[in-house]
Amino acid sequence: MTLAPWNAEAWTRLIERRRHDALPHALLLAGPAGLGKREFADGFAQALLCQSTRADGSACGACRACQLFAAGTHPDLVRVNLELRDDGKPRTEITVDQMRMLSERLVLTAQFGGMQIALIDPADAMNVSASNALLKTLEEPTSRTMLMLIGDHPARLSATIRSRCQRIEFRLPPSETAQRWLSARDIDAKAAQDALLASDGNPGRALAWARSGALKLRREVAQDLRDLAAGSASAYEVAQRWSKDGVDLRLHFAAALVREAAQAQARGRARDAALALTHATEMSKLTAWFDRANRTRELLRGPLRPELALLELLAAWTTPAAA
Ligand SMILES: [Zn+2]
Repeated sequence: MTLAPWNAEAWTRLIERRRHDALPHALLLAGPAGLGKREFADGFAQALLCQSTRADGSACGACRACQLFAAGTHPDLVRVNLELRDDGKPRTEITVDQMRMLSERLVLTAQFGGMQIALIDPADAMNVSASNALLKTLEEPTSRTMLMLIGDHPARLSATIRSRCQRIEFRLPPSETAQRWLSARDIDAKAAQDALLASDGNPGRALAWARSGALKLRREVAQDLRDLAAGSASAYEVAQRWSKDGVDLRLHFAAALVREAAQAQARGRARDAALALTHATEMSKLTAWFDRANRTRELLRGPLRPELALLELLAAWTTPAAA
């Protein structure tokens, strides 16, 4: 198991609870994507199933249970994920049928005589009926089951579900820790710094972005916003280009860049931000545009064609930025 250093403390606490036979029946692993929740959940599930755990409580990696776990065929581990639709794309919701199947599985005896474990990921994608069905399972816990819910957006879970789970909060590590972790993965210091700045300090996301060329996209977005503000690019042309690829990530970067510009301006250092706004722009306008960019991003996750929504958003940027 590769446990991120910033999750070591939570890991140790959980292993201690296991030693004292004081584990809860349900865990909620909550926090932004990119912090290692899934590795953590997998590592703990494997440790619970392992037949000869190491001294530190982690799985041995060699026993029969560990082999089955690695092959994805351990009979006492149930994974509930987004199923694929007929067209091969994942559904957007975890359904009630999946939850019913899960509860039927969990009433059976564990085949290895140990625990039965369910990993529900992304738990925050359960629809209302799925969530209600899971609640029944949570309200009738057996000592031999462990439910692990994984959620990047835990606030979307119902309050009742949340209250039935012991919550483990995954938080951003200090920037030096994130820097060291990235450099151990062959990201040079400058790229690591840029990627962490772009990802608000999220190391997993920074790693993905540093490796995928997303930072180049961020620089492009910054350039487009500067050109629009200076009147040297047309909102129509930029909207056309943005709508062709990476629209979600572009909007994420655009909103983050504008927030950064607003923060820099509040400190009287607008020129230091990536957008380097040369005209002082009213803070309320920057904030309004930030909200608008986020709303557009939400909107475009639906079936809408992006051009028009982007055009409106970008046209609104040229106005406040030049004001
Ligand atoms: Zn093992």
